[in-house]
Amino acid sequence: MLKKNFPESPEVNPKLPVTEQPVGVMPRVSFERACLLAKMGITTIGDLFFYSPTRYEDRRDIRKIHTLKKGEQALVFGKVMECGVQRTRKSKKFLTKAIIDDETGRLHCHWWNQRWPAESLKEGREVIVFGKVDSLYPPRMTNPEFEVMMGYADSRLNVGRIVPVYGLTEGVAQWWIRDLISRALDRFLKDLPEGYLYDSELGFPSRPRAVQMLHHPAVPGEEELARKRLAMDELLEMQMEIQRRRKNLLAQAQGIKCPGDNRLIRPFLKNLDFTLTPSQTEVLREMRADLNSGIPMRRLLQGDVGSGKTVVAASVALMVMEAGYQVVLMAPTEILASQHVKTFRKWFEPLGVRVRQWTGRLKDESDAMELLEKNSPAQKAEIVIGTHALIEDSFRIERLGLVIIDEQHKFGVDQRERLLKKGSWPHLLVMTATPIPRTLGLTLYGELDISSIAHSPEGRGSIRTFIRKRDKLSAVWDFVKKRLAQGRQAYVIYPLIDEPSNPELKAVEAEFMRITKEIAPFNAGLLHGRMKGNDKEYVMQQFAHNQVQLLVTTSVVEVGVDVPNATVMVVENAERFGLAQLHQFRGRVGRGKEDSFCILIVADSAEDSMERLKILEESRDGFRIAEEDLKIRGPGDFLGDRQHGMPSFRFAKLLEDYALVQHARKIAIENVQKEGPVLPQK
Ligand code: ADP
Ligand code: MG
Repeated sequence: MLKKNFPESPEVNPKLPVTEQPVGVMPRVSFERACLLAKMGITTIGDLFFYSPTRYEDRRDIRKIHTLKKGEQALVFGKVMECGVQRTRKSKKFLTKAIIDDETGRLHCHWWNQRWPAESLKEGREVIVFGKVDSLYPPRMTNPEFEVMMGYADSRLNVGRIVPVYGLTEGVAQWWIRDLISRALDRFLKDLPEGYLYDSELGFPSRPRAVQMLHHPAVPGEEELARKRLAMDELLEMQMEIQRRRKNLLAQAQGIKCPGDNRLIRPFLKNLDFTLTPSQTEVLREMRADLNSGIPMRRLLQGDVGSGKTVVAASVALMVMEAGYQVVLMAPTEILASQHVKTFRKWFEPLGVRVRQWTGRLKDESDAMELLEKNSPAQKAEIVIGTHALIEDSFRIERLGLVIIDEQHKFGVDQRERLLKKGSWPHLLVMTATPIPRTLGLTLYGELDISSIAHSPEGRGSIRTFIRKRDKLSAVWDFVKKRLAQGRQAYVIYPLIDEPSNPELKAVEAEFMRITKEIAPFNAGLLHGRMKGNDKEYVMQQFAHNQVQLLVTTSVVEVGVDVPNATVMVVENAERFGLAQLHQFRGRVGRGKEDSFCILIVADSAEDSMERLKILEESRDGFRIAEEDLKIRGPGDFLGDRQHGMPSFRFAKLLEDYALVQHARKIAIENVQKEGPVLPQK
C-alpha cells in the first residue's frame, strides 16, 4: 500500500559531508524504517553508497511471452492476471497457480507444495519471473523464481538491466532498498568527493562513477572494477597512515648506533655447535646494516617453524650489547620464555653476559637481583627475557637498545609500542613463524622491513603426515610405542583441558590417566595452560631431559618449544584446529636428524574435514598452508589474540588484492614524501 503522508524529512545539514548525512534525509524513511536500516549497518547516506549488493541478476534480456521456446530459461515481466491456491485431491498437496500477462501472451506459473507465492502475487501487480519453460500450449513454468514490484517501485529499476540484489533484514523488502539506494545515488552522488587520483594506468573510474557502477553495472564485470577502485581508496588510506608513521619515525628518531667490535659475537659464533646457514647469515647482514643506519631498526623476521630464528635474535642482541646497550626479549608464553632463558644462558653466560628472567612468576627474584646489581659499579651487558609482564610499569630498564618480540602474531601493535617506550627509540626485531600471507604482511606489518629465512638448516629428518579416523587409534598407539622403544619422544595434543560437553571431544586430563597406563614402562607428563607456572616448567624440564617420553598436552605447545628428540606428534580432534595452527604443532617435531611423524586423528562425525586437512599431508610450505587457512577461516588467526591495528575493509579482499596493496603502498610513499614536514610528537 502506498502511504499518502510521509513524515517530513529533516533538512540536509550543510555542515556535514554528504556521506555523513543521516539516512533520514531521504523521503520515505520513517523512524521505524531508519531503525531497520540501522540493523543492516546503514545509518548514513555514505552507508547507502557503500552498501554492496551481495549479488546481481542479469535482467537485460526480458523475453516476450509469445517468443518463448520450450526448454529454455527465460525472464518474463508482466502483470498478474489471477492467482490462487488449489489442493490436489489425491495427495492433498498445495498448488499455487498464477497467470502473468505481458500483452504478447499469457504465462502460467505453478508452484508445487507452496502457498506463500499467492500472498504477494495479487491481481494487477507487476512481477518478474525467471525459470524454465516446460511447455508451450499454454506457456508454463514450474516453480519459477519471482520478484513482485510493489508500492512505488519503478519497474525501470528492476527490469531491463543488471539488477543489484542486497542483503536484507526482516521487514525490509528487496524492491524497497533498491529504490532507496537508487534515489540516494540520484540525489547525492554528485556531491561525493573524488578520493585519491590515480595514475591513468590503473584505468579506474572516478569515485562517484565507481559507486554508480557498484550498484548498477551496465555490463557484467563493471561491479568488480568498481570494487577494486573503492578497495584502492581503503588500502591507500591505510598505507598513508603507515607511511606517515614511518616518516615520523625517520624524522624524530635518533637510531642508536651499534657499530659492533665483534668481541661478543665472534666467540659466540665460534662456540655454537653448528654454523649459520646462508639464509641466517643473509638476514644478519641486513640487520647489521639497520643497526648502523642512524634510524631505529623496525624489522620483521619471518621464517617457518624450526628455521632457526632464535640464534639470529641472539646474534643481533650481542651486536647491540657490544655497543653498551641492553636488550629485552618478550615471548607469548611462560614455557617459551623459560626455554629462551635456558638457551640464552647456555649461549651467553660463557661470554659474561647476564640473562635475567621476567615473567609473572619470577619477577620477585629478579627484583632482588636488580637491587644487588645497583651495588655493582660496572655496566654489565644484560638481556632480560620475559612474557607480557615486561610491559607492566613495574618493569624498567636502563639503556634499552633493542626490543625483540618472539611470535609477534600473539601480541598486538599497542603492546609492542608500550615495550618500545621503555627506552628512547630502541631498535625493534619482531619474529614470527606463522607465515603471513603476503597481503596481510603489507597490511599488518606495513611499516616494518621484512627479512625471511628462506631455508631451514639441512641435515634434518623428514616429516610425514597422516590423517586417520578414530577407528585406527590402536594402530596409532602401537606405532607411538614402537618409536618410544627406539628411544624417541612424542607429543599427543588434545583440544580441551577437562570435561568435554560434547562426547566426541577428548580432554587432556581424562586421557592422561589412560595414556600413562597404555605406554608403561615409559613415562607420560601432563602439560596444559591452566597448570601453575612452576609445574609447567617442571614438566617441560623433564621432557627436555627425556625423563618424560610422552608429553600429553594442549595447544600450549603451539609455539616455539624445541625438543629435537621428539619425533612423533599425535593430534586428537584435529578437525578442531586451523591449518596454520596444525602446521605450528607439527613444527614441534622434525627438529632432529631422525625422521618424524605427525598423525592427525579426526572424530567420526568430522569426516568431511579430512578434505580440508589434506593439504597438510601434501605440503610443508607454511605459506601455502597459511593462505589456504586464510581462505577458509578469514584473517582472525593471523591477527593474534588481540586484533589491534587491523582495519576492517568493506571492499578490499586480503587474498586477492595483493597487487592493489602493493600499488597503494607505492602511491602512499610518493604522497607522504610530498606532504609537509612532520609535526613534533606529542
Ligand atoms: P624457530 O625459527 O622455529 O624459532 P629455533 O630457533 O627454535 O627455530 O631453531 C630450531 C632448532 O634448529 C634449534 O634446535 C636450533 O638450535 C637449531 N638450529 C638453528 N640454526 C641452525 C643451523 N644453522 N644449523 C643447525 N641447527 C640449527
Ligand atoms: Mg622460535
